[in-house]
Amino acid sequence: MASKYDFDLFVIGGGSGGVRASRMAAQAGARVAIAEEYRFGGTCVIRGCIPKKLFVYASHFAEDFEDARGFGWTIEGAHFDWPTLIANKDKEIARLEGLYRKNVDAAGAVIFDDRAVLKDMHTVHLAKADRDVTAETILIATGGHPSRDTGIAGTELCITSDETFHLKELPKRVVIAGGGYIAVEFAHIFHGLGVDTTLIYRGPKIMRGFDDDLRDALQDSMRGKGIRLLFDQIFTRFEKADAGVRAETSAGKTLEADRIMLAIGREPNAKGLGLEHAGVKLGRKGEIVVDAYSRSSIPNIYAIGDVTDRLNLTPVAIHEAMCFVKTVYGGVPTAPSHELVATAVFSRPEIGTVGMTESQARHTGHAIDVYKSSFRPLKHTLSGRDEKTLMKLVVDQRTDRVLGLHVFGPDAGEMVQLAAIALKMGATKAQFDATVAVHPTAAEELVTMRTKSYAKAP
Ligand SMILES: Cc1cc2nc3c(=O)[nH]c(=O)nc-3n(C[C@H](O)[C@H](O)[C@H](O)COP(=O)(O)OP(=O)(O)OC[C@H]3O[C@@H](n4cnc5c(N)ncnc54)[C@H](O)[C@@H]3O)c2cc1C
Repeated sequence: MASKYDFDLFVIGGGSGGVRASRMAAQAGARVAIAEEYRFGGTCVIRGCIPKKLFVYASHFAEDFEDARGFGWTIEGAHFDWPTLIANKDKEIARLEGLYRKNVDAAGAVIFDDRAVLKDMHTVHLAKADRDVTAETILIATGGHPSRDTGIAGTELCITSDETFHLKELPKRVVIAGGGYIAVEFAHIFHGLGVDTTLIYRGPKIMRGFDDDLRDALQDSMRGKGIRLLFDQIFTRFEKADAGVRAETSAGKTLEADRIMLAIGREPNAKGLGLEHAGVKLGRKGEIVVDAYSRSSIPNIYAIGDVTDRLNLTPVAIHEAMCFVKTVYGGVPTAPSHELVATAVFSRPEIGTVGMTESQARHTGHAIDVYKSSFRPLKHTLSGRDEKTLMKLVVDQRTDRVLGLHVFGPDAGEMVQLAAIALKMGATKAQFDATVAVHPTAAEELVTMRTKSYAKAP
């Protein structure tokens, strides 16, 4: 029987989640349309993970050149050119954007380069084309945007991560507000590129939610590099200065910088989507409320990714997209799992973490053994860099399962991706111990920590 709708599925948003869902649903035989109002690839490809990681690579060279001396190299006249980095990054992002679009097209989905808003539970209005299309199922994958909500006037004088990717000039002095991974990563990027960098955070310690030992190690390392850290204060005033912006803080400090970057959180893109016309319920932060299968309060409308504010990471949005397609077009109801998702912070050195922190384990009733090791990486015996790697295992005393694995050190992100498989399989400390080391690596420490550092009751 022919459907009474124009499409089986209409996807709003061509980012990490929307692109994957539209491709997989079309490949499963559904008649799919997708609308993207800006650029295919979404936050991750256009102004998130990918350009950021390219900046991270760029920022590493200064320390690499310094480290090279201890190995006999002489490097003279090294010079960094910001416009070259931006131009090369833009070229790569344009290539990726093209690939994303091509893959959606090849899967057979119809593409609308347009802003889509809901008119009712089955009707989508395309703003530019000024036309309506209908669909049996609607998937909202509109992502999020950087918050500018400082509570004071003058935030238009500041930039966010979005603008940072397109600055015409590299600032000489930057102040970054925030204590999450975006603030930390950009502090390292700017500092690595030679920018005088200050980070200001409203709380007493950055990277809330991460293991306390890693948070402390990261802060010490940032200070050691010369990144200024200001805690327990917020901005109370912004004003234009001769060369940039001047800001005052609640602790009575005046800060002046060429650029002030706000990395104070992200907000879901749910406003102005016409959700009220369809009756879709929003949560406290304005996120779309969904059930375990990513279904909203309206049965034929689903939402995935950052707009649902569950775990705002690209692989999670993609996982939610695949579970959605399995549920709706594969006949197998599949709830995405948000357990044991490994994550990295691209500071220098990196943080890689999976599973419970020491305090989460204790607060959820586990008696634990903690294995900790802090050591100087082999490379730095010759580079002379005063930098330590920290590794930590949180082990459940009753079952011997490794509940959490935390690394602060070079390539921690790469290490933790593999370790996450072991944790997902329920690996015990005895199985870690039974694994023969790869030598000489830093990761071998994860399977050679024989003596527990301490035990803690819940
Ligand atoms: C600076 C930065 C660094 C990051 N680094 C990492 C990282 O290292 N690792 C990681 O896993 N994650 C990282 N993230 C997070 C990651 O980018 C997001 O979790 C991910 O992109 C979410 O995917 P999504 O599909 O939910 O939304 P998005 O990728 O944001 O895509 C949403 C898309 O919807 C479009 N859209 C919105 N409204 C409409 C509309 N009404 N009509 C049509 N189109 C619309 C938008 O233009 C956008 O393209 C980073 C984010 C930022 C900002």
